[in-house]
Amino acid sequence: MREDGGRNGVEDECAADDGLWESDRGGSDRTAAGAGRRQATLAVRGGLDRSPHGETSEALFLNSGYVYDSPARAEARFKGEEPGFVYSRYGNPTVRTFETRLAALEGAEACRATASGMSAVWTALVCQLRQGDHVVAAEALFGSCQYILTELLPRFGIETSFVRGDDIAAWSAAVRPNTKVFFLETPSNPQLELIDLQAVAAVARDCGARLVVDNVFATPILQKPLQLGAHVVVYSATKHIDGQGRVLGGAILSDEAFCDGELRNFLRHTGPTLSAFNAWVLLKGLETLPLRVREQTRAATALARRLENHPALTRLIYPGLASHPQHALARRQMQGGGTVLALDFTGGKDAAFRFLERLEVADISNNLGDSKTLATHPATTTHQRLTADQRTAVGITEGLVRVSVGLEDVDDLAADLGAALDAA
Ligand SMILES: *Cc1c(COP(=O)(O)O)cnc(C)c1O
Repeated sequence: MREDGGRNGVEDECAADDGLWESDRGGSDRTAAGAGRRQATLAVRGGLDRSPHGETSEALFLNSGYVYDSPARAEARFKGEEPGFVYSRYGNPTVRTFETRLAALEGAEACRATASGMSAVWTALVCQLRQGDHVVAAEALFGSCQYILTELLPRFGIETSFVRGDDIAAWSAAVRPNTKVFFLETPSNPQLELIDLQAVAAVARDCGARLVVDNVFATPILQKPLQLGAHVVVYSATKHIDGQGRVLGGAILSDEAFCDGELRNFLRHTGPTLSAFNAWVLLKGLETLPLRVREQTRAATALARRLENHPALTRLIYPGLASHPQHALARRQMQGGGTVLALDFTGGKDAAFRFLERLEVADISNNLGDSKTLATHPATTTHQRLTADQRTAVGITEGLVRVSVGLEDVDDLAADLGAALDAA
């Protein structure tokens, strides 16, 4: 990585980079929320709120309730006249530390944690929608997000129009007088298509809608949607934030007005609460998130470059490769191509299965963002609920395999994937 940030066009394109650009060592990620500290520092120390015991590591407050010195203090807490916790469905010190740390990393004013990524998506959408409202969403979405928009929200009189995410005119054309929310993920799963966040945010702003971005694939390390005009960011913390296959979790990040407004009461009274134990595990995950995401991105870049021209593939999709049709956009709005590759096999499903069967280091698994390299066949697993036509429409072929690159030695991974490609 170049320390001088070499910005002058041609030279920059030709520089032998390791798959990360605009390093935060240059100070580009300093955030107001983080009091001027850089990402790696915030990941380790953000939100740290030591108990009177002075423990080094964050304490785990595994408690549901709280006690008060007097009825008057209980009254004051409930009225909000005195700070403090009243019940862990409303708030918990360990959960709050996780929320504060993730908000600092994201550069968001506020964060609310949830029990899973899906509870974050559901809560972020439903807390601000009511009967008669309209949503515009990108058509390439995580399966369960699609289910919420097509099956659940219509039951409450909320309609969604789906558009090709990269077609900015289509976002504009889909807007109705009652459009309240835009929803998208970028890069998309599993075909790694990008959506121009600034352009879609501008359309949303013009019509008074809020842009909600599922930022799971990019992580807070590689993409900051709030800085590009989004109003709300959601995460499955199950993915990179844990990153070690242990717990489920989710998060919603936005400004104070949103988090303390419609979101606050919805969360308190419906209870998709993150457990204190899971918050503690995720908090420790955040400490190594910048390291892991950068290293996994470097490895994904190296593997993409080494395997790109393998004869078994019609294409290898990776936003960090110059061959990706939206590579220029990736360079603009991300700080690296991410930790996931998509391989499209010429030989279709049979070749994809032969590849998966031959893997020795990488596992067959539908999770992602893990320290272990995981590979899955979306058409028969994560996206099997879609009809064949729907899959074709969003580019999920029978030959597509998604590889989430982990932290194993990159030469071992190259040998493993290479041998499996040869077998395919
Ligand atoms: C995994 C995932 C979710 C759902 O998260 P869970 O923690 O499994 O509930 C949502 N969006 C994307 C893009 C995901 O990859």
